[in-house]
Amino acid sequence: MTCVVFFHAHPDDEALLTGGTMARLAAEGHRIVLVTATNGEAGLAPGAYRDDGQLGVRRRSELDEAARALGCARVVVLDYADSGMADARTHAERSFADADVDEAARRLLAVIEDEGAEVLTGYDAAGGYGHPDHRQVHRVARRAAEMGRVPVLLEATVDRRALQRAVRMLRSTPLRRRLPDLDPAGLDAMFTAPDELTHRVDVRPFVAQKAAALRAHLSQAVPVEDTVRTVGGLLRLPRPLFTLALGREWFTEVGREPGRRLLDDPLASLR
Ligand SMILES: [Zn+2]
Repeated sequence: MTCVVFFHAHPDDEALLTGGTMARLAAEGHRIVLVTATNGEAGLAPGAYRDDGQLGVRRRSELDEAARALGCARVVVLDYADSGMADARTHAERSFADADVDEAARRLLAVIEDEGAEVLTGYDAAGGYGHPDHRQVHRVARRAAEMGRVPVLLEATVDRRALQRAVRMLRSTPLRRRLPDLDPAGLDAMFTAPDELTHRVDVRPFVAQKAAALRAHLSQAVPVEDTVRTVGGLLRLPRPLFTLALGREWFTEVGREPGRRLLDDPLASLR
């Protein structure tokens, strides 16, 4: 049994980016620990979910429900403040994006050492779509791996070219009305180019768990003023398209040369 620590910025990131890998490794008998930096209290949500100032509390319990669906053994929230999107920064006291990288890395490392974890996941250098907290996850995970014993660091990402293909395909169908408006060209600086990836993990047998985890994030699934959210739009896809969109997850293993063939096994380096 291997312990794997999945480090994420906000509740729902775990389901979107690595939910299938978590469910697959849990089903193989591994110990899955989920760490988020924040409770996601600056996320978008309709007034009914946020006007009482309790969005963070709601999202924390949504996170617990999603973690159960994915087979997590433990959930740790580092309790930094959600920094908000780049164009809507909160600059809250103790915001994660502004946090001291070494301090955050030490706190993450304390969980890794407590668990004897051999694998840590972080994010790509772009922070995926560029949220300041996601870029900070990249820095903090890298720093934790420098400071302590972390045999394998996998950076969760998305194959940029596959995402652009999927967006172009969906925009050419009536389904475009169900999805947030995405411009494929705008994705050029996001996530990771295919030739930099090391892993493409097949999680198609685990899309039901992934869907259950996404459904748990109810505050992120309901439309805000008629604007469809990513989680809600994905959940409304017919199952074959949902599987096509969410049936694979990608990682770049730090220190491993990208090969001609992508690895399917997230624990390949430990076998
Ligand atoms: Zn996030």
